Amino acid sequence: ASTDWAHVAADLAPIACDTGERETRRKSRDYYWFSPLLKAEIDDWRADLIATPADLAELETLVAYCVAHRLPITVRGAGTGNYGQCMPRHGGVVVDLTRLDRVLSIGEGTFRAQGGIRMYDLEQELNRTGQELRFFPSTWRSATLGGFIAGGTTGCGAIGHGTLHTPGNVLALKILTAGDTPTLIELTGAEAQAAVHAYGTNGIIVEAELALAPLGRWHDRIYALPDLGAAMDLADRIGRDRTLAKKQLAVVDAAVIPLVRPLAETVPAGSALVLAMIGEDSLASADAAANELGGSVAFARAPGEKTGLVPAIYEMCWNHTTLHAIGRDKSISYLQCGFPADYRPVVLAVAAELGDEMPMHLEFATIDGELVCFGIPLLRFTSAERLAQIHAILRSHGCQVFNPHTYVLENGGMQVADPQQLAFRRTSDPHGLFNPGKMPGWDVPDAA
Ligand code: FAD
Repeated sequence: ASTDWAHVAADLAPIACDTGERETRRKSRDYYWFSPLLKAEIDDWRADLIATPADLAELETLVAYCVAHRLPITVRGAGTGNYGQCMPRHGGVVVDLTRLDRVLSIGEGTFRAQGGIRMYDLEQELNRTGQELRFFPSTWRSATLGGFIAGGTTGCGAIGHGTLHTPGNVLALKILTAGDTPTLIELTGAEAQAAVHAYGTNGIIVEAELALAPLGRWHDRIYALPDLGAAMDLADRIGRDRTLAKKQLAVVDAAVIPLVRPLAETVPAGSALVLAMIGEDSLASADAAANELGGSVAFARAPGEKTGLVPAIYEMCWNHTTLHAIGRDKSISYLQCGFPADYRPVVLAVAAELGDEMPMHLEFATIDGELVCFGIPLLRFTSAERLAQIHAILRSHGCQVFNPHTYVLENGGMQVADPQQLAFRRTSDPHGLFNPGKMPGWDVPDAA
């Protein structure tokens, strides 16, 4: 039987609900349109009702109601995900979590906050205690903590601290389940990974406890190098030098510069660039390394200094590079891959093979003490067939492909449902109501 959504909204009062055309469309979207394939496939996915609980008690009431009536529940933070993650495949209720936005505690080296808090607001409170987030997505001005944990991976700070999967970063998550009696469950240590990057398919992150870093004085630096090889050499030197403090480390090839307006207006055309945030005491050694490799400082900015045209370095890195490029050229999309440990020859071989079809963009992380090179290259998109060929080319060079052109969790990276996430979902979401259709390994027993 079809659901009477006006009736649902009346039942849920006083929880704020909206069934209007405009709001259900606006809150059912993310940045899925970075992918022409997702744009074509999921553009019309729409919630029937947007609910914005004011606090945890209202959220619990809402989830209990949805379970009782077998209504799909898709959680939304800020809707900055890239793969239609918060878009409701089967309609139903989209829960806007941004009113659960309290910092609960800040200790020495850790904090606990509610899942709907904006990461940038959180950082301001942390900074007042002389501490900072270990890493954050480049979208942190709007992105929420819970949305990052459930939908993201890492970002600015990866070069110091790895990813959300690196042990010691995510310390605990409090999860609201959708069992017959919705329950709050605390997952600690490695257990918490069950809900990390699970797209909200196995529970709602209502609180998160993460590890912190001491507050740094980070200087923005753009180094111009003669070519991609030299830029990788500089990134490698900076990345591996444990005595050199850094928060952000990326490389873009010369072909990216005209596509990113602030770069096009700031740095010399034809150079390959290292985009970095360097600790104040390490600037001299990073600048010297650039000079030794035939490079120079093309842009420098001290903490807090205002420089009109050029955004924060991280707002030209990660998927912000892609955002700028799509803004300039609508035919651009992107790829995501992991390069092997000996990445330099592989990056050069792939760049030579794909040339201007794939302007190169690399991001660096430190994971288990090792320097890891990820690719987020731009792609001059032509067709799904060509995309599949390019993925095959990347794999033939030993790269791991993280396909950003799919809304299916399993198809993005591992190709199979993560056993820990799946096992947790069997108990936390027995009716398959959370974000149904995104994890086909446990697909929709009751919903929709
Ligand atoms: P949403 O998009 O609202 O949600 C993401 C997923 O999490 C959805 O599946 C949603 O259902 C689920 N979810 C949301 N809140 C909760 C909750 N409390 N409990 C359970 N599930 C929940 N990602 C990175 O990791 N690093 C980057 O540097 C980065 N850069 C980006 C740059 C651009 C320009 C864009 C468009 C995207 C980028 N992203 C990046 C992706 C995205 O912005 C981040 O992952 C961001 O943290 C998502 O937060 P959000 O609040 O917008 O989540």
